[in-house]
Amino acid sequence: MDMTEGCDEALMAQAGEILRRGGLVAFPTETVYGLGGNALDPEASAKIYSAKGRPSDNPLIVHIASFDALPAIVSSMPAEAEKLAKAFWPGPLTMILPRGERVPLETTGGLDTVAVRMPDNDLALALIRAGGGYVAGPSANTSGRPSPTKASHVMEDLGGKIDAVIDGGSTGIGVESTIVDLTEDVPVVLRPGYINMEMLRKVIGEVRMDKGLTSDDPSVRPKAPGMKYRHYAPKADMVIVEGKRENVIRTINRLAAEDIRRGRRVAVLTTDEGAGAYPMGLVVSVGTRKDEITIARHLYDSLRYFDKAGVDSVYSEAFDTPQVGGAVMNRLLKAAGHRVIMADEE
Ligand code: AMP
Ligand code: MG
Repeated sequence: MDMTEGCDEALMAQAGEILRRGGLVAFPTETVYGLGGNALDPEASAKIYSAKGRPSDNPLIVHIASFDALPAIVSSMPAEAEKLAKAFWPGPLTMILPRGERVPLETTGGLDTVAVRMPDNDLALALIRAGGGYVAGPSANTSGRPSPTKASHVMEDLGGKIDAVIDGGSTGIGVESTIVDLTEDVPVVLRPGYINMEMLRKVIGEVRMDKGLTSDDPSVRPKAPGMKYRHYAPKADMVIVEGKRENVIRTINRLAAEDIRRGRRVAVLTTDEGAGAYPMGLVVSVGTRKDEITIARHLYDSLRYFDKAGVDSVYSEAFDTPQVGGAVMNRLLKAAGHRVIMADEE
């Protein structure tokens, strides 16, 4: 089944029916496309893991369509949850809360906490309501690949493995939701996203960033199980080059020339400002440095494009994106398997 924007009620009811019967429906959200299954049905969760090839210790986010649906799936409600929901739901914020008994361990990867969010997308909200109110929805990509920001990305990865895709066009934000853990003494951000630390602090005061996200020490593990895996990655070897602008350009051009001499197909990930500076390889711009939101929106499509073009190595500039909580650099580092080099000095 394929549905286009503004899809009608009968088709949505059908999609809801698929979920109620334990099937899988991919759907658009404001961040990326999700792979939906009934979150309260352990067999549906098992199907999600199997379709994505996702490790079973990597829990799923439960999507709801109203705040009133929350108490039934948590065992207690921290005071911050209500404040954050008022401020940011529907929106790109996921909260980690104590798991209620109705949520099977299959959905939470065996954890006694549950991740919950209310997406800001009318098709997603309609599907959640039609499907019974609780939809487990990880990103609708094959595990390890860049998350899907278009219905065609979903079909590339999961076509033939799922029952339906609701096509809502390109997603607006383009990187996954911010995850904040409310089960610790002080709330902790486990995954950076569009809702940044400053926005959270304004609503709930003190917030920490999970040390596992920023530490170079491999023994300091991220608390969100999914953040420890290589992820968002193109098939090519990817390296991020950091440093002064001129030095980055010179270094990438040197590395590209060396690779091309060795017969490798090379791509460069840059911005509109840098695009003219690279004479070799496939040069891809993620947008202008003046607009972080556009950069975030184009990131995964660009990473997928490298696979389509069949390149062997990708050299990427670094992108500082404080407005989206540093989410672009966080995802880029994971895509590159944390391979970062400093540009040559003059
Ligand atoms: P995705 O579904 O692809 O957006 O990934 C969901 C992310 O949320 C992964 O990084 C998970 O590890 C994380 N997550 C989901 N539930 C929990 C939880 N209960 N505790 C910590 N992290 C979680
Ligand atoms: Mg994902």
